[in-house]
Amino acid sequence: VLDPPHRAASTGPRSASAVAGDPAAARAAARALADTHLAPRAAEVDESERFPHDLLERFAAAGLLGLVVPERFGGAGGDLRHVVAVAEELARVDVSAAVTFNAHASCAALVDHLATEEQRRQLLPGVAAGALLAIAISEPGTGSDAASVTVTAGRVRGGYRIDGVKHYCTNADVADTILVFARTDEAAGAAGIAIFAVGRRERGVVLRRSEKKTGLHGTTTWEIEFSGCTVPDEARLGDAGGFGAGMRALQRGRVGIAAVAVGVADAALQSAVGYLAAQRGEEAEPDPRLADLAMAVTAARWLVYDAADAYVRGYASFGLLSAQAKCFATDVAMRVTGDALQLVGPAGIVRGTYVERAVRDTKILQIFEGTNEIMRVLVARELLGRW
Ligand SMILES: Cc1cc2nc3c(=O)[nH]c(=O)nc-3n(C[C@H](O)[C@H](O)[C@H](O)COP(=O)(O)OP(=O)(O)OC[C@H]3O[C@@H](n4cnc5c(N)ncnc54)[C@H](O)[C@@H]3O)c2cc1C
Repeated sequence: VLDPPHRAASTGPRSASAVAGDPAAARAAARALADTHLAPRAAEVDESERFPHDLLERFAAAGLLGLVVPERFGGAGGDLRHVVAVAEELARVDVSAAVTFNAHASCAALVDHLATEEQRRQLLPGVAAGALLAIAISEPGTGSDAASVTVTAGRVRGGYRIDGVKHYCTNADVADTILVFARTDEAAGAAGIAIFAVGRRERGVVLRRSEKKTGLHGTTTWEIEFSGCTVPDEARLGDAGGFGAGMRALQRGRVGIAAVAVGVADAALQSAVGYLAAQRGEEAEPDPRLADLAMAVTAARWLVYDAADAYVRGYASFGLLSAQAKCFATDVAMRVTGDALQLVGPAGIVRGTYVERAVRDTKILQIFEGTNEIMRVLVARELLGRW
């Protein structure tokens, strides 16, 4: 489906146009960026808990912010297979950077699929050039059930007035535009939800609180209050609805998160292997637990690639595969990073050790973009539906 990472040579950062086409080229560009710029400072970013602001410039220069933006809007015209390849490579050295990339790519694809041609012309060239996107669905009391959002977008002359509170919004303070899920019709259920592209600096957008987290210290996580935030008609993405497109974006985002999980799991395994080889020497009896971890990572990787391939081919199985990939790969990553730490032993719990950071970063992958409990519910429901 895709070139496995060990077959993709690192050939240095490419321009946006060069990463289009073959996912292996996108993978190579991401690997070069990760090796050159992310790896040397990933531990420092984790320790300082600060978003590294030059990241966006570097992403844009490597063609990653416009990876899924059509070429006529200045992007690379890639698809979910490209996103998966890049997310996996970035996550090998810096899970936060990979999550920032994936959230942005998922939002960019949502704009591309839902927006009118005029809105795409307005938004997408900036997105490819470095204007980060964030998404605000979750609210205090509304997360797993996205159809029950309570933030309102009431009709006013020439536009809408947005009111209410969102929370856990990734990179809200760094984003240029936030895609806000808001209710335009109280009585219409999911059909009464629309998606608005709201500038982060609009009046009435107040970033109230940022969370201190277990891991993912290179991303920020915000509670946002919308208080009389008035936006023009054109801020509402698309001509009608939006909730279905939003759910589809979540499905794609899940496959990207699954790829992040594969990247961090594989890197944690390699880290443990390197440590054990150095400690015990290559002549020592190999630890069979390594084989179990390696098999789990390989199985997760191919499930992720298969889900991305199903999306690109338009297979009806995509929804099912995306939930399976997210749940399986992130559970594998939690097991592999934890076991890798255990194999390393006490050195693995020391701050600054790769496996220590990997365990903290991985836990969140089982929770956001839909918890793994919800993924299991979705898979089981789909199986029963087919029956
Ligand atoms: C670091 C981080 C970044 C995030 N970034 C964003 C973002 O950018 N944008 C955004 O909109 N959201 C974001 N989120 C929110 C995230 O997607 C939600 O927190 C997540 O989907 C869980 O929803 P919830 O908070 O409502 O949890 P709840 O639904 O309250 O879940 C609590 C627990 O109950 C379980 N549960 C709930 N319903 C069921 C069920 N039917 N069956 C079985 N178990 C169930 C859950 O699995 C979980 O274990 C982020 C969260 C975190 C932690």
